[in-house]
Amino acid sequence: MRAAVLREYGEPLQIEDVERPSPDPDGVVIETEACGICRSDWHAWQGDWDWIGAKPPKGQILGHEPAGTVVAVGEDVTRLREGDSVAVPFNLSDGTCPECRNGHSNVCENLVPLGFAEAAPGAFAEQVHVPAADQNAVALPDDVSPVAMAGLGCRFVTAFHALVHRADVDAGDWVAVHGCGGVGLSAVHIASAVGANVVAVDLAEEKLEKAATLGAAETVNAAETDDVPGAVRAVTDGGANVSVDALGIAETCHNSVNSLRRRGQHVQIGLTTEDERGSVDLPTDAMVMKEIDFLGSFGMQPPRYDEIFRMVERGTLTPSAVVSETVTLDDVPDRLAAMTNFETMGIPVVDEFRS
Ligand SMILES: [Zn+2]
Ligand SMILES: [Zn+2]
Repeated sequence: MRAAVLREYGEPLQIEDVERPSPDPDGVVIETEACGICRSDWHAWQGDWDWIGAKPPKGQILGHEPAGTVVAVGEDVTRLREGDSVAVPFNLSDGTCPECRNGHSNVCENLVPLGFAEAAPGAFAEQVHVPAADQNAVALPDDVSPVAMAGLGCRFVTAFHALVHRADVDAGDWVAVHGCGGVGLSAVHIASAVGANVVAVDLAEEKLEKAATLGAAETVNAAETDDVPGAVRAVTDGGANVSVDALGIAETCHNSVNSLRRRGQHVQIGLTTEDERGSVDLPTDAMVMKEIDFLGSFGMQPPRYDEIFRMVERGTLTPSAVVSETVTLDDVPDRLAAMTNFETMGIPVVDEFRS
């Protein structure tokens, strides 16, 4: 089968013929119908994230936002059948550790990141293996297409979990979103769907225009001010109640924390780059005196996907609105390269894997 393989960090991914996966006893194989292209793939391609143990080895098939059809089922799998339409979260869990048993499988103690670890070849391929499939595969409702779901599996659920489960976003709150890439635009859409007033921040006017169509009440072009937090505090009458760093560089993290009003909540979604290597200094004294919360947020537990599906069914959320384009497997190397200069918009999705 065809797959996009990382051979050298920073060099174009190679489209190669590789062996098809076969299912472990507890796994399934899915025929990939769609897989989003994400800034996390870009980080993997750059060879980032050795500081969190997520630097992929050379030879890794990347791709971690798949949706598709089950084509082979391991003998111990009970919940899935051939022909089922499923999505797969990027943070594969074991289902047995204390965090999983307590309902927090997104931070499983034995987490395996799909498409980053040798044990979990990714989904920029005609087929992908899902380990512990009863635990990890999410059945898709009829009204969610694989392309819409591909965007949903990583960035959309990450933004949803951050705003709805980790932070306490109430209707009428100001929510600032720093960085309007795929996860940022998802956060804009979700925050406005749950009744918040959203202020979107980015350097690119085009992305701010997209944010406005997804519900942002205000936008701040960070290229046009040297005081982004001040600009956010001005339009929010004193600061945001909740602010999200949807990029993961020191500047957006600082801007987000400093955009908050007293007792505000910062949510860190973006993981950092080679420049920060996992550490950003913070205005701790000001955070103490203003009682600012710093929250991390990582993916979402599969059983909670139903919350999103119910909102999709009612038309309150439209994950496909964040999907910007559909491309072929051969386009993946170019789309990753375009992310170096932030030239992609929203969520590009691969929906053609065969030549
Ligand atoms: Zn992703
Ligand atoms: Zn676990």
